[in-house]
Amino acid sequence: VIEVRGLTKRFGDRTVLSGLDLEIGRGEFVALLGRSGSGKSTLLRVLAGLDGEIEGTAEVDGTVSVAFQQPRLLPWRKVWRNVVLGLRREGRSQARNRAIVERALDEVRLTAHADDWPLTLSGGEAQRLSLARALVREPDLLLLDEPFGALDALTRIAMHRLVEDLWRKHGPAVLLVTHDVDEALLLAGRILVLDEGRIVAEHVLGHPRPRTPTDHAGLRTRVLA
Ligand code: ATP
Ligand code: MG
Repeated sequence: VIEVRGLTKRFGDRTVLSGLDLEIGRGEFVALLGRSGSGKSTLLRVLAGLDGEIEGTAEVDGTVSVAFQQPRLLPWRKVWRNVVLGLRREGRSQARNRAIVERALDEVRLTAHADDWPLTLSGGEAQRLSLARALVREPDLLLLDEPFGALDALTRIAMHRLVEDLWRKHGPAVLLVTHDVDEALLLAGRILVLDEGRIVAEHVLGHPRPRTPTDHAGLRTRVLA
């Protein structure tokens, strides 16, 4: 779904990406690591077609969904309407669309906030809303820019499971930017490291990854009081 050749991206006289090559196949789950400022978000923006003026080629085929590092929500639309924006227009019935949106809000645990305004959400809630909007699209390629950064540990685990389930069910290619090596090891079939504008390391964990259910052992919470 992604083929990038010799991608160079400059901001003024600063070169952020420098002759970068990258290939991601259908249904692959790839994690991208790299220091802060190394150009990860820039690469995702280029792949999402949001950053013009590049040198080299960056080809992406299929539908793309993005969940940005700073969620871009429409503040004048209620939470559920922001999710509706993620839907593809393909003549489904309103009732069906509503069911899809409700399900997505439930999966990211935002049902109680469906009628709230985005500006009243916490940072983690806004991230989860952004994720729900990306997921309802059932994209061929899902670009996730540190989507779990602002989440508490338990919610993060639930979101890992959600993304993994979705990946298994619908099989989009996923490019996940994260600073969390454990997260990359848990979810990805291939880990890439971006440095000085290029992919400098690649770690293949199995390709394709065995599709067995992940057991997050011991993470069932029991209320003792
Ligand atoms: P982080 O892990 O902190 O999110 P990152 O790897 O995502 O970092 P980018 O956001 O891609 O880093 O930024 C890479 C570099 O490009 C930074 O030095 C940043 O200042 C610069 N940069 C990004 N966007 C622009 C812009 N629109 N104009 C000028 N410089 C930019
Ligand atoms: Mg970034």
